[in-house]
Amino acid sequence: MKIAGNCVVTFHYRLSDADGKALEDSFDGDPMAYLHGHGGIIPGLEREMKGREAGATFNATIPPAMAYGERREDAVQRIQKKAVMTKGRVKPGMVISVSTDHGPRQVVVVKAGKFVLDVDTNHPLAGQTLTFDVEVVEVREATPEERAHRHVHGPGGHHH
Ligand code: ZN
Repeated sequence: MKIAGNCVVTFHYRLSDADGKALEDSFDGDPMAYLHGHGGIIPGLEREMKGREAGATFNATIPPAMAYGERREDAVQRIQKKAVMTKGRVKPGMVISVSTDHGPRQVVVVKAGKFVLDVDTNHPLAGQTLTFDVEVVEVREATPEERAHRHVHGPGGHHH
């Protein structure tokens, strides 16, 4: 079947930045799964997926506006250290998880003090043009429960 709204798509991907440096690679591990049409993956990649079938391989270069957005220069914020969810010592340049009113979020540490941190709340991949090498592994109809939750259950998705 072809990828369209409310399909569950399982795929492998290799992600590289504009210089060709590899950032993520799922081919050595488990594929990723998402529910098509609900913003579960970046907009540029979701658009490229549409209409493809299991077994398809393709390569897509996606500009920041269709990936993780442009970098905002006003995105550095001071936060309490107790909001940090990542274990261990926090150092400048590290990507850490922090809890916010909108759930956990990844930020980059700019400066680390004793009780507060300055963090850059831009997504670590904001402002980057990204290249994906993709292999579509499986395309199936979403279950009624998956449609209601707007995400995938089982392998590559949520377990609850
Ligand atoms: Zn669910």
